[in-house]
Amino acid sequence: MGKCLQLSDEAAMLAFGQALAEQLPAGLIIYLQGELGAGKTTLVRGILQALGHRGAVKSPTYTLVEPYIFENYTVYHFDLYRLGDPEELEYMGIRDYLDGQAVALIEWPDKGAGILPEADLLIRIEYREAGRQLTLEPHTPAGHALLKTLPA
Ligand code: ADP
Ligand code: MG
Repeated sequence: MGKCLQLSDEAAMLAFGQALAEQLPAGLIIYLQGELGAGKTTLVRGILQALGHRGAVKSPTYTLVEPYIFENYTVYHFDLYRLGDPEELEYMGIRDYLDGQAVALIEWPDKGAGILPEADLLIRIEYREAGRQLTLEPHTPAGHALLKTLPA
């Protein structure tokens, strides 16, 4: 089933992002759950840097989505914290983003419940005395396949 990892610092979080990036297939949808400051954006940064992005990665809190274009696919980083109503995702054309080719990394997915497509992989990040605990839960065959290739 799922997997649990303990990541003691930011460097470990970035390294896990790199491990994910190395296995990430086109079209994958990942939900990132966790309180403010849990490390969702840090994990996204680890993934994007491993894919070759140079420069800052900030939560797109006001714009809701930020695209990162790579050779093999585009990664859309969503932060739905300020989404008032899941219906707004329809107006922004969510279906055009999640076309089966692009990878979606979605912070605060609960805000889009009912409209967002199901995640292939759900990652829950929780505070621990030292660092963070990640719980990885696959929800599709693609999610299961990815999880099998990851450490822990
Ligand atoms: P979120 O997007 O969930 O609101 P951020 O990634 O913006 O959170 O911020 C997370 C904070 O926690 C950063 O200051 C980062 O350095 C720190 N951090 C990330 N991962 C870990 C970890 N595994 N252990 C300790 N601190 C971490
Ligand atoms: Mg964030």
